[in-house]
Amino acid sequence: MRDYHQFLDQVSHRLRNFKWVSRNHANFSCPFCGDSRKDRSKTRGYVLYDGNSPAFYCHNCHEAISFGSFLNKLDPSLYHEYNFSKLSDKPPESFSDIKHTKKPKKALKPTNEKTDVHKFVDEMTVIEDLDRNHQAREYLRNRNIHEKYFDNIFYLPEENKIGLLERYHGKFKGKTGSRIVFPTTDISGCLTGFVCRTMNPENDLRYITLKIFDKDLVYGFRGLDMTKRVYAVEGIFDSFLLPNCLASLSSDFSRIKALGIKDLIIIRDNEPRSKIIQPLWQRDLDDGCRMMIWPKEIESKDLQDCVSDGEIPLRGMEDFVNRNAYDGFEAKLKYEAWRV
Ligand SMILES: [Zn+2]
Repeated sequence: MRDYHQFLDQVSHRLRNFKWVSRNHANFSCPFCGDSRKDRSKTRGYVLYDGNSPAFYCHNCHEAISFGSFLNKLDPSLYHEYNFSKLSDKPPESFSDIKHTKKPKKALKPTNEKTDVHKFVDEMTVIEDLDRNHQAREYLRNRNIHEKYFDNIFYLPEENKIGLLERYHGKFKGKTGSRIVFPTTDISGCLTGFVCRTMNPENDLRYITLKIFDKDLVYGFRGLDMTKRVYAVEGIFDSFLLPNCLASLSSDFSRIKALGIKDLIIIRDNEPRSKIIQPLWQRDLDDGCRMMIWPKEIESKDLQDCVSDGEIPLRGMEDFVNRNAYDGFEAKLKYEAWRV
């Protein structure tokens, strides 16, 4: 991801008296109020970064907006690029090269692929640019997602805009409605798709997964350090509760296992009676994976519920997982005890 410094530098020639005061503090004459007609040396416009999200403020006209909105006012096309840079390190254009080297014929897609994805991204707003009390922010806070992640989660406001990417999914049976959108990348940072979650509990179509390429998605490669301990969970919301965590977006962890991570702990949902997942458990145990085995007394079905139900405090989550992780023969014994 390119950071905001580069984008601010790109518009700085249009900001009178622009200068970087420190790494996260830029100062210039406010472009909105003129700042001022009488004294051209006044510099009361600021872009400041407090560690959460960069923002613009003017001490003269008191305009206070996110850096994204500021950029949008100065240069909408650059704002689009800024928005896109938050999705992934590499926009999907660069995908064509990768695809050509692998399966030349099959992988070729119609040439308007880029436009569809760009149109779709144009419909979204990054969560950190939404008002403090916006329902999407509220929804994410209720799911225990820290605001530091809000620069890479999006809000898709209108009905059926997902139709722009319909061919990546097929026909929708239910109403799509407004959605929270999580962009996914592959290990090299290339955009691979979007996981779109409804905020409406009445909507049966909870998740819509848009795959740009015909490959299953994994969430969480952004900022992942594979040389450290990596956690792997099933659900996207659970992945925000642990550091350095991937979400398999299904109960099959084979794609994550194939990454060859040295220190990996797999955390499945707490479904001891589910017959369907038993073979998957068995396979992971046979492969010698390090697995978290749920203590008997925990009733919540996943990590999110544990936090919401007050069974595990958010701050104690990593410790809880580490304490209950086993491999080898011990994991098999604990597993047998858990599922009966
Ligand atoms: Zn001003």
